[in-house]
Amino acid sequence: MISVVIPVYNEAGTLEQLHRELSEVAAARGYDVQIVLVDDGSRDDSWRVIEQLAVRDPRVLGIRFRRNFGKAAALSAGFDAATGDTIVTMDADLQDSPAEIPTLLGRLEQGLDVVSGWKRKRHDPWHKRYPSKVFNALVSKLTGVRLHDHNCGLKAFRRDVIHEIRLYGELHRFVPVLAAARGFSVGEVPVEHRPRVSGESKYGWSRIPKGLLDLLTVQFITRFGQRPQHWLGSAGLVSLFLGILGMAYLAVVWCVSRMPWQPAEAAVHLHQRAALYYSLVLVIIGTQLLAMGFVAEMIAALVSRDRDAFSIAEYTSPREKNLPAATVPSTPTPEPNV
Ligand code: UDP
Ligand code: MG
Repeated sequence: MISVVIPVYNEAGTLEQLHRELSEVAAARGYDVQIVLVDDGSRDDSWRVIEQLAVRDPRVLGIRFRRNFGKAAALSAGFDAATGDTIVTMDADLQDSPAEIPTLLGRLEQGLDVVSGWKRKRHDPWHKRYPSKVFNALVSKLTGVRLHDHNCGLKAFRRDVIHEIRLYGELHRFVPVLAAARGFSVGEVPVEHRPRVSGESKYGWSRIPKGLLDLLTVQFITRFGQRPQHWLGSAGLVSLFLGILGMAYLAVVWCVSRMPWQPAEAAVHLHQRAALYYSLVLVIIGTQLLAMGFVAEMIAALVSRDRDAFSIAEYTSPREKNLPAATVPSTPTPEPNV
């Protein structure tokens, strides 16, 4: 079964047609689908439309947030409710075409765990397209997960992936990166993209600094989330060491300048030495980084109590009752060639 999870924020104008197109694809391909529509605090008629769809079509499940919590939260709630073995996410604004779902699923069948869409020919204004190009290049370079379009709404996942990834804030942009960091295989396929026909885009200029900050966060949690002190502490120790070295040097200079054989006017006054201020700053920053590292370690210890630091791909024997849920082998065993 396939669960299609769709975050909805003021998209009343497109939901009917989206449902129609999804039903057509499902009927043509014989998919057993669940359509999860998560209303992220819409102020238009979206929820009324979702309710009507749910009455008409038992495959539709509507979830309504009390207020707007953001796309990542909406996806998260949808994932919790999704019962399919395969989960597809797509935007509600019809910019993503349901007709591309079979292509995505095809790649999953070839053994990938996450397939991301790539809006090769993008129908958005230039001020969305160009920053996005830079952003994608930056994310690919920094994280090593090379995709043309990290932030495509259209993606497909094996069930295990969404179980292991917790989305919050605006981290929906980084699902492929977070998945790859846990060892899942990630790939992409070009998909058709359409202009927005109704409603308006929810993301303005503010997404640029937010996206960059989120990139730093993701870099940090995927690389040092398990051992924050290794990073913060190393920087802290270097800073502290340099600061102490400076202080020691100044102490020696001070003592030497006040030896009995030195003339009185040779006496060094430390507040006149720039090195004093540099050393002070280094010592303070170093101590703070170390202290922050310890706090981060404690948080990491707490988090790891609820969430595995590892990701199991498979067991040798079929899933047993007392074993924790593991991924069903990701590639179907090929038929021997005869
Ligand atoms: N969305 C949401 N909550 C938000 C913002 C957006 O659920 O706070 C949904 C929105 O309804 C749409 C998808 O996320 O289905 C993508 O949003 P949008 O089309 O505005 O982004 P763009 O395509 O302009 O990047
Ligand atoms: Mg859109």
